[in-house]
Order: sequence, then C-alpha cells, then structure tokens
Amino acid sequence: MDYPSVFAAFWLGSVYGSFLNVVIHRLRREESLVRPGSRCPHCLKPIAWYDNIPILAWLALGGRCRLCRGKISSRYPLVEAAAGLMSAGLALRWAALPVWWVFASAVACGALLAVALIDWDTFLIPDELSLGLLAAGLLVSPWNPYYADASWTLAVWWSGRGALAGFAMAWAVAAIGEAIFKKEALGGGDVKLLAGVGAWAGATGAFDCLMLGSLAGSVYGVRLVLAGKAKRSDPIPFGPFLAAGAVFNFFRLLPLGWPLVKP
Ligand SMILES: [Zn+2]
Repeated sequence: MDYPSVFAAFWLGSVYGSFLNVVIHRLRREESLVRPGSRCPHCLKPIAWYDNIPILAWLALGGRCRLCRGKISSRYPLVEAAAGLMSAGLALRWAALPVWWVFASAVACGALLAVALIDWDTFLIPDELSLGLLAAGLLVSPWNPYYADASWTLAVWWSGRGALAGFAMAWAVAAIGEAIFKKEALGGGDVKLLAGVGAWAGATGAFDCLMLGSLAGSVYGVRLVLAGKAKRSDPIPFGPFLAAGAVFNFFRLLPLGWPLVKP
C-alpha cells in the first residue's frame, strides 16, 4: 500500500466523517439525512462547499461559522479525523484484500462511530444503525476475511449464526445484570448492536466485543462512582464501549478466540 493510497483513504474517510456528523446530529431527531444540506447549527444558513472541507475548514475558520461567528464544536473535525484515520488504518490492514472490502469495513466502522456518539448523548442506539449493520454484515459475508475459505453459503450461515449468538449473549448478560443489579445494564439497543457485530465478526468476534466492551464500560462506571461524579444508580451508555470493541474486531486485534476457533 503506497502513501498516496493511504492518504486517499484518509481523505475519503474524513469526507464520510463529515456526513457522519450529519447522521449523529439528525438521526436522533428523525430528520432527513440529505435535505437540507449542511447548515450552521446557530444561524441555520447553508454552509458553502469550501467551508465544508473536512478538518481544514474548521481549522481555517478557528472553529466558528463564517457568517455569524457562532462557535462550532470541536467534535465535528474530530469525528472527521477519526473516520479518516479508521479508513487509512483499514486500507493498511487489508491492503492484500480487494479495495471494496476496505470500503465496506470503513463504512461499517463509521456507523459504529455514529452509534458511539449518539448513545453517549442520548442513551439510545437507532435501529437504522444497529440493524443496518446486521443486514450489511450478512450481505458482504461471502467476502469477509473472518469467513475466509468458506463457501459463500457457509459464510452467510456463519454470519447469521454470529448475529444470533451476539443477540443471545447480549440478551443473557442484560437479563443476568438486571437480576443482580436490579437496574438495566445493557439496553435493547445494545442487544441489537451486538447482533450486528456478530454478523461481521462471527460468534467469537461478538463474544470478544461483549467481553471487552463490558470490561471497559464497567471500569469507566466504577471510576465515575469512585470520583463522586456519578451514583451507582446512574445509567452508563455501553454502546460506545461495544462500538470500540467492534472496531477492534475490524482490525482483527482482539486476542480472544480467533484464530484458534472458527466463528
Ligand atoms: Zn452561523
């Protein structure tokens, strides 16, 4: 993989990140993702294309709207940078595979980034993202390196089984957690999200993701409580932690299970 290709992957990823900002902002409000075009959150005036160039426009304008000088959150360029870095990373990681596999996994990782931020803000995971991930994972399973050297029917079966396993595992953890702690630990959105993760990463990948996500989420929650910033009864969004585990899966970085066990 040569530098221009990695740079192109970064750039395309950051353009996708710019769209993800719209998704994060509008999906929770059930607003259209395409109409109207990008607008300033303060003055609602349309943003010119040159003020919409990922990362650079925000830097050039000092984090403010050109027209009303209202402050634009640094989350916008950070989401663009994160999506760009994930795309470039996937292009490097999967340089040996067809380019469109890089494309498919970058799209999925971007959706996970949107899941993480929407859940962080609202404690909800839109079905469009979790179930969309599930459907897309099934659709591309015959080309998924997780199911390499399987016939396409077998790959679809493994993907579907992964989705069912992810759903069942998360559901079981949710039920057990509720019985022990008498409050909702994992919500219905998390359960559907893990089904989506299972479609892409198989049963083992879903398991890895659930373990890593619950561990990281619990550490975060305990730290908040110890620091006096939250009460034990306060809810914690688990979606961001599950999404982070799922992105690790896309790089095949998780140590548990794979490749010792087939999905
Ligand atoms: Zn403005």
